[in-house]
Amino acid sequence: MKIAVLPGDGIGTEIVAEAVKVLKVLDLPLELEHAPVGGAAYEASGHPLPDSTLQLAKDADAILFGAVGDWKYDKLDRPLRPEQAILGLRKHLGLFANFRPAICYPELTHASSLKPELVAGLDILIIRELTGDIYFGQPRGRRTAVDGHFPGSEEAFDTMRYSRPEIERIAHVAFQAARKRGRRVTSVDKANVLETFQFWKDVMIEVGAEYPDVELDHMYVDNAAMQLVKAPKRFDVMVTGNMFGDILSDAAAMLTGSIGMLPSASLDKNNKGLYEPSHGSAPDIAGKGIANPLATILSAAMMLKFSLNQPVAAARIESAVAAVLAQGLRTPDIWSEGTQKVGTREMGDAVVSALNAATTMTKTIKG
Ligand code: NAD
Repeated sequence: MKIAVLPGDGIGTEIVAEAVKVLKVLDLPLELEHAPVGGAAYEASGHPLPDSTLQLAKDADAILFGAVGDWKYDKLDRPLRPEQAILGLRKHLGLFANFRPAICYPELTHASSLKPELVAGLDILIIRELTGDIYFGQPRGRRTAVDGHFPGSEEAFDTMRYSRPEIERIAHVAFQAARKRGRRVTSVDKANVLETFQFWKDVMIEVGAEYPDVELDHMYVDNAAMQLVKAPKRFDVMVTGNMFGDILSDAAAMLTGSIGMLPSASLDKNNKGLYEPSHGSAPDIAGKGIANPLATILSAAMMLKFSLNQPVAAARIESAVAAVLAQGLRTPDIWSEGTQKVGTREMGDAVVSALNAATTMTKTIKG
């Protein structure tokens, strides 16, 4: 099983190193090959997604990705900015379905910015369409306005669009995921204002008819944002477009205690995927050794489950993470009174120790 390891920038290198450490103790035939991406690749070769990195990603069975970006690249032409690497990978590999589970571990209810009773037992899944919408729609650019409120002035514009097949395939992904969970899908749109999202809603209803065992409801994105912080446990699977999903999944991250806890999987139609934490490169804490590596470690577990058909190994990682939290170890982003503050590396080491301890116990019981 070949894994392309793309650490990227900022805390990307620190957190991916911990996930790699965890993967290496699993005793699986994994071949890990590293390549630069984002700002690191731009520095090395003048492009954020060099051909060699893209080829490695195409050849691999799965991709483990850290994060890209740094404020120092903000002045570069857009095609050369680090963030173009992740957009390029999504586009070239057809990674249209983004899974972002938001689970609140019992030990972290106090780390959430919401009241503990609102998030205790939270387990929701946000499915974000990842290769369409206003992030990829053409045309886009800057020009002189010919109409609007200020004709003749400079303006910028983007294009929001979704085709029927794009909506149909993400709808099927959401309904099938719901069948493995609570059998409820909430489709988030802005059908009251946007033509694109009236069409989204219409197609969701059509596809939903093929899944009579799954309950479908619809919510405007503004209300969805409010409900996420008011009563997040009302959701099971939430499916939405690229831009709304980007924003809502970050809001959902805080329900879990920290964005450093939120893994993600981005899958193509054959379940080949790119696995990354939901956060960015966090330049504000990069190099300090305090980033939370658990989102990346949990992303590696998702990789084993979705792309490499290793559900037992994935469950072992998830149990090890739960064990470490139960021991009271916390990186600063999830720290609270009475728990033990640790750094990135110590947290990774603790997960490795928990895995080794579980293996020893299993061998003892079998013996
Ligand atoms: P960010 O997610 O990097 O950081 C937001 C806040 O969360 C910061 O305060 C940061 O310190 C904190 N944080 C993030 N991950 C953490 C972790 N693992 N442990 C502890 N704290 C953590 O978002 P941002 O600051 O808006 O963006 C920084 C850079 O990342 C930008 O260049 C942006 O474009 C890029 N970015 C990249 C990706 C990606 O690679 N997929 C995603 C989002 C943002």
